[in-house]
Amino acid sequence: MDKFPQCLKCSKGVLIPLSDYGRDGSEIRFKAWVCSNPECGHNIRIDNGEVSIGKVIKQSEK
Ligand SMILES: [Zn+2]
Repeated sequence: MDKFPQCLKCSKGVLIPLSDYGRDGSEIRFKAWVCSNPECGHNIRIDNGEVSIGKVIKQSEK
């Protein structure tokens, strides 16, 4: 995969796939997609087959 899909919200960033690991240690590929533009923050999550769009991802404040 050499090209990521462009973010439809800001049209500046690209959507980067994030992987996670399940309870049994199996890899969950592309569990979430996050916009690379920090000012946008658009994201898509997939939880147990349900897709949720645009939920705020918590950022650690420094
Ligand atoms: Zn975006």
